[in-house]
Order: sequence, then C-alpha cells, then structure tokens
Amino acid sequence: MQILDGKKTAQDLKNEIQAEVSKMKAEGKREPHLAAVLVGNDGASLTYVGSKVRSCEQVGFQSTLVRLEDSISEEALLEEIAKLNADRSIDGYIVQLPLPKHINEERILMAVDPVKDVDGFHPSNFGKMALEMQAFIPATPFGIVELLKRYQIDIQGKECVVIGRSHIVGRPISILLSQKGEVGNATVTLTHSRSKNIEQLTRKADIVISALGIPEFLKADMVKDGAIVIDVGITRVPDETHPKGYRIKGDVDFENVAPKTSFITPVPGGVGPMTIAMLLKNTLLASQWR
Ligand code: NAP
Repeated sequence: MQILDGKKTAQDLKNEIQAEVSKMKAEGKREPHLAAVLVGNDGASLTYVGSKVRSCEQVGFQSTLVRLEDSISEEALLEEIAKLNADRSIDGYIVQLPLPKHINEERILMAVDPVKDVDGFHPSNFGKMALEMQAFIPATPFGIVELLKRYQIDIQGKECVVIGRSHIVGRPISILLSQKGEVGNATVTLTHSRSKNIEQLTRKADIVISALGIPEFLKADMVKDGAIVIDVGITRVPDETHPKGYRIKGDVDFENVAPKTSFITPVPGGVGPMTIAMLLKNTLLASQWR
C-alpha cells in the first residue's frame, strides 16, 4: 500500500507555481491576482477561504477577499460580481459556496465571466471540459487527475467506480477519467444515492473515487485487493476530545481499507490540499490565457 500524499504533491505544485510567478515578475509582468467572495460567517467556508488566501500569499499571488453580509440581496451580489468581471486587475475569482438560502446560486454562478471562472463552475467551462477543449477544470477533479499523473498511475482500460454525481466532483471526475488523454481511457461507472448494490460495483473496481460525504461509507469488504482508492469526503464529526470540537472524516474507513489497497489518499492530507493547489494553478492559467 502506498499513500498518495496530497499534502506533499500540493507543496511541489505550489513551489512550481511560485517559480513561475517569479519568472513572470522578472519579465516585468504583474503577478496573478485571485479574488474570493465570501457571503456570511459560515465556519467551514471561513476556513476554506482563509486557506485559499494564505496559499495565494505563499506563491506570490495577489489576493483580495470580498466579505459580504449574510443579508445581502441577490441583486446586490450580482452587482459585486459585475464589478469583479470588470476589474482588469483581477485574473480570476471564486464565489465560496454555499450561499444563503435566499440567493439563487445558479444565477450567481452564471454571472461569473467564464474567463475569470477559476472554479470551472460556469456551463461554458464545464461544456468545454466535456468536449476536451481548453477550459478551467473544477479544482477537486483537476487535483485528483494531477495526483494520479504525478504518481504515474496508469488508469487506461481500468474499471473505475465514482460514488457521487455532484457538479463539482463526481460528475466532472467521471468525465475526465473516461476521456482520451494521459490520465484517462478508464471505463467509468458513476453511482449516486439511487444506485443499487454499489458494493457489488466497487468490489470489482480497480479504482474507487468516493465523493458522497458520508463518513467511513466505504468499508474494507467493498474494495478488492490492490484497488486504488481516492477519498474526496470531508465531514466534520463532533468530537469533544479534540481542541476544535470536531474531527475531519473522509468517506473511507481508512484503517481497514488502506491495507487492501495499492494506493490510497488519506483524509486529511489527500485530495483537500490538491484542490487548493489546483485553484492556484487555474489562477495562473487565467493570467496566462488573458
Ligand atoms: P454533494 O453535492 O452533497 O453530492 C453528494 C453525492 O453523493 C450526490 O450525488 C448523492 O446522490 C450521492 N450520495 C449521497 N448518499 C449516497 C449513498 N448512500 N450512496 C451513493 N451515493 C450517495 O457533495 P459534493 O459537493 O460532491 O461533496 C462530497 C464530499 O466531498 C463532501 O464530504 C464534501 O465535503 C467533500 N468535498 C471535498 C473536497 C476536497 O477538496 N477534498 C471538495 C469538494 C467536496 P444524489 O445525486 O442522488 O443525491
């Protein structure tokens, strides 16, 4: 069993991005600039946005945090989005989800200029990705592909089962792994909450990608010997013995599954850090594609 070390790989990527930024500056170019829009005070969102901003600083990007009140109207948020679209000093930006219930998320995401959509959530980018055209690929599936690439894992012709069909993880990773390409050509089965007998599918799979958000859903008897397991899940489980009052759990029963696998991502330290690194990568691409 080998750990797919997302923390180390993400750091390698950040070092490469930092070197690229230094080169850009030496050539008299401006450093990439990422903005993040955060509406409200949700604890997890604050943590995620905070680490995105810190990561920007680490690689020499400029970053701007746009903090808005929970009570902001949809129209006022759309005005903020229009300002970010028009601001030539900003290469890319993200709108941290979830948004408050009174705001139509789809309407907001549709308003993001696709050339600044470094989350890759706009239909223009999603469509281009599906058609194998140049596009911003959502950071989490992009990070999984990069991790497989850097560990030189050949997935061609392999049976891959993805659990979860969300627009930001399950669906795009199922598209990417089935495409032609360096990390691709797998035979992909996409499963979800209405799928029957998931364990029968995962037991036959060479690769299992779990992105459903149920702690320790994937048990040892659900994977075959030598499988590659990618755990995307991040769930905060209450734990009074922990200083933060909670513990982060993945979708995989790591302790019992890991010994059976050939490669596995830990939680934390697997897909999570890769997601942030790929957001930085998308921002660098945004500044280069302009
Ligand atoms: P989501 O939008 O809630 O989607 C969950 C998916 O899982 C849905 O497609 C759902 O099916 C499916 N599902 C739910 N229960 C199931 C079951 N019992 N059996 C099979 N499928 C089931 O979640 P998401 O945004 O993709 O996130 C998934 C997990 O990954 C969460 O823990 C999230 O925190 C984590 N995440 C991590 C990162 C990272 O950087 N590591 C990034 C994004 C998300 P239906 O479509 O039928 O409802």
